[in-house]
Amino acid sequence: MPKKISIVIPVYNESGNIITVHKAIHDFFSPLPQYAYELIFVDDGSTDLSVSEIRNVCNQHNNVAYINFSRNFGKDNALMAGLANASGDAVITMDADMQHPPTLMNQLIQEWEAGFELVYCYRDKKNQHTGFRSQIFSRLYYKCLNTLSDLNMQEGVSDFRILDRKVVNAIVAMEEDNPFVRGLVHWVGFNQKGIAYTPEARLSGDSSYKMKSLVKLALNSITSFSTKPLNIAIYLGFFFSLLSIMYIPYVLISKMYGVAISGWASVIVTIAFFGGLNLMILGIVGIYLGKSFMQGKKRPKYIIADSNLNTVHETKFSRTELFETRKLKIN
Ligand code: UDP
Ligand code: MG
Repeated sequence: MPKKISIVIPVYNESGNIITVHKAIHDFFSPLPQYAYELIFVDDGSTDLSVSEIRNVCNQHNNVAYINFSRNFGKDNALMAGLANASGDAVITMDADMQHPPTLMNQLIQEWEAGFELVYCYRDKKNQHTGFRSQIFSRLYYKCLNTLSDLNMQEGVSDFRILDRKVVNAIVAMEEDNPFVRGLVHWVGFNQKGIAYTPEARLSGDSSYKMKSLVKLALNSITSFSTKPLNIAIYLGFFFSLLSIMYIPYVLISKMYGVAISGWASVIVTIAFFGGLNLMILGIVGIYLGKSFMQGKKRPKYIIADSNLNTVHETKFSRTELFETRKLKIN
């Protein structure tokens, strides 16, 4: 029996790319009879024609499945839905926009067969197409993430990876609200390996990640894996208390000897500085409080509006036992 590989592709307004990405994957697996593959498109509330494009492909190929969310829940939740419903011995996750070259799956599968349970692709530093500014931001981000959390993530790591069934099961078992999949796959451990790659240009459409959502992602990822930012308040508090202990005698002695300390500018600067600092610390505490609030609600990570997964598993692979355990659920 051939080994089965599932490909999970999150889709958000990618109507121009569905046919191409499916064809590339189909062509890749055609000369490889030792592998059966299933392709799962997870539509993350697209507002363009992505859903009908995906349905067309599904109608023509019975190893292609779709999961349609009831609205946009974000790429990470789309990946979680794909992983939860994939039935392969290994799962490859990749973007829909052809930025992840499908031919690279060859190397991913080879490394997986060699015994690595997680093989991920990271942007090759030598062939960066990005501007200087985003390279600086990227370096800063990974530096912060790795210093503040206990993760040791490779700079430029992408969502193009292969996960062994063991890793998939570990990830799917996580009940984390707002999951950061790139961090979670590192956090679970196992035998991991990185492969450098050069991302292609986006085939069609625009990237959904603008500066604002990147900042949101950075804050979410750091606060998902570390509580160290909460300690900042303690250290700063100690530092400034110490400083003021030294400053207070100076003020008192000056007053006793009648030396006037000129005031306005220094008072305003101090108030503005500590006002800003207080708000920043309050904001950090707020982020953690918010996360804990959202987690406490135990809302589902995503809501599936529609899917053909049951039929795909039944007809093509008749793996009833898998079908039974993976029945569509609101997860
Ligand atoms: N995506 C998604 N939900 C979103 C945003 C993006 O499923 O809310 C998908 C998108 O369709 C693509 C992948 O995530 O397959 C990566 O998105 P994009 O290319 O916009 O990001 P970038 O390559 O700029 O990091
Ligand atoms: Mg992209």
